Amino acid sequence: MKLIGPFKQLIPMTGLSIKGPLSDDDILVMEDVGILIEGTRIKSIGKFNELKIAYCKVEVHELKGDHIGLPGIIDAHTHICFGGSRAADYAMRNAGKTYLEIAKAGGGIWDTVTQTRKSSQDQLIKTTMKRAHRHLKNGTTTIEVKSGYGLSVVEELKMLRAIQKANDQTPADLISTCLAAHMFPKDFEGSPEDYLELISSTLFPILKEEHLTNRIDAFVEESAFSEQQIAPYLKKAKAMGFDITVHADQFSTNGSKVAVDVGAISADHLEASTQTEINLLAQSDIISTALPGASLGLGCNFTPARKILDAGGALAIASDHNPGSAPMGDLLTQAAILGSFEKLSNAEVLAGITFRAAAALNLQDRGQLKEGLLADVLLFHSSDYREILYHQGSFKPCVVYKNGEKVYDKHQ
Ligand SMILES: [Zn+2]
Repeated sequence: MKLIGPFKQLIPMTGLSIKGPLSDDDILVMEDVGILIEGTRIKSIGKFNELKIAYCKVEVHELKGDHIGLPGIIDAHTHICFGGSRAADYAMRNAGKTYLEIAKAGGGIWDTVTQTRKSSQDQLIKTTMKRAHRHLKNGTTTIEVKSGYGLSVVEELKMLRAIQKANDQTPADLISTCLAAHMFPKDFEGSPEDYLELISSTLFPILKEEHLTNRIDAFVEESAFSEQQIAPYLKKAKAMGFDITVHADQFSTNGSKVAVDVGAISADHLEASTQTEINLLAQSDIISTALPGASLGLGCNFTPARKILDAGGALAIASDHNPGSAPMGDLLTQAAILGSFEKLSNAEVLAGITFRAAAALNLQDRGQLKEGLLADVLLFHSSDYREILYHQGSFKPCVVYKNGEKVYDKHQ
């Protein structure tokens, strides 16, 4: 067992509703407390001095100076397993070239598919771990990672096995998702329906057998798959016991309706959602995930986060870290920026990257600091928790604990 403290302020993110607006007055701020950790989990949270006396034999990590404690950040949507770079795309887009012109010049998602197929599994493990480690240092202790640059049974398996191996070798938790329905592969001989049928009948059973993932994602968009093509695919996945998530309403609306119809856990993007889709999502149990990194990368509008919350929806915020539209990957920065553009309270932004993000991944063991949950804890050198978002992401944690172990310490 170990005891960490005293925290000037501990923000456990408990007692807050999963849906709807949150005010900073709702945030529980615990002062001069300590966290008692047994193994990977939190055993108790209480006044530091009292815990120190009651557990006089445990290892004490005594904090010097003022520290804020926060649950580990959860990034519920990334594509950090990929080969190559799309710097040329990015430059072309900012120089005013259209999506079609970029695709014609050999750019776009297909470029990353080509580069990822060329990469060995070992190369993918290495680069995924490198990116995961950078995020862990910045406080992201749980990272969802999608496949979707393989687009064939063999290549999707290579990606998902690479994510699984990377997960074994990094202290961060990588939660894998199969995104074989990212786009229709150019080199597939047959119709989009044939492709989806092949994936669901051949790949899905292997995913189960090798425990590679229990999550299936699909991109519903004019440039990817239509509502009619994707609904049977996702229903089949759901019937096999997979959790469903959808890339929805990024440029056109349709995806959120599919997500609600199939009973998805989350609908992500939603930049194009109108009040109709917002109400539909808010009336369901779906987590709506905003991806400000994609808006920043593409130079387009943000997800209507304020409207989603005001309609009573549950809002998570994720980085969408990917080589094309969201190369930055810094979730704390992006969440802070979304907060200032969309007028979100500290409570709403922090909820979006902690317990509401945990719900987007269907994880009940993290996202808050309380007895029995994983000891994923961030320490910030400050006496006021509002400093964290005030610095718009440039203020990073000085210490990161994952599963009760110190995995990063700025001072060492
Ligand atoms: Zn994405």
